[in-house]
Amino acid sequence: MTDKKSKAKRAPAGATEKKKKKTKGLTERQKRILKIRDSLVKQKMQLLQEAGAALNTLPDESAFPDMSDQATAEIDRNFMLRLRGREQKLLKKVELAIERIDNNTYGICEVCGSEIGIKRLEARPVTTMCIECKTEQEEEEKILES
Ligand SMILES: [Zn+2]
Repeated sequence: MTDKKSKAKRAPAGATEKKKKKTKGLTERQKRILKIRDSLVKQKMQLLQEAGAALNTLPDESAFPDMSDQATAEIDRNFMLRLRGREQKLLKKVELAIERIDNNTYGICEVCGSEIGIKRLEARPVTTMCIECKTEQEEEEKILES
């Protein structure tokens, strides 16, 4: 309990001020994309944490008694396997989205090359398609499935 309190107090007072300076000169869209980046980083951490928690409950830990580099690599592989398929895909998407923000290629539709609406990006940060292309793709999937 007391731990939580002290953590909240420790938040640096100048942090918000620094952020303001950093975003000076950016367009509204760029600022909002930076906010999306923050939430993507948080999401990534959460996914990794969940996978880490799963790893700690590994029942066959004794299968790696010698922690050689090879064994470590094996554990890394297991770590990824522990992430459920869906989470693994999401993690990959989140990482790619962060990469695209850093490369300034974020928010451009990979199909038609037009700008994806900021509201759509905020609602679905890992999207790589504008709403028109996504709708079209979903229509095609429906046809394929039926
Ligand atoms: Zn498009």
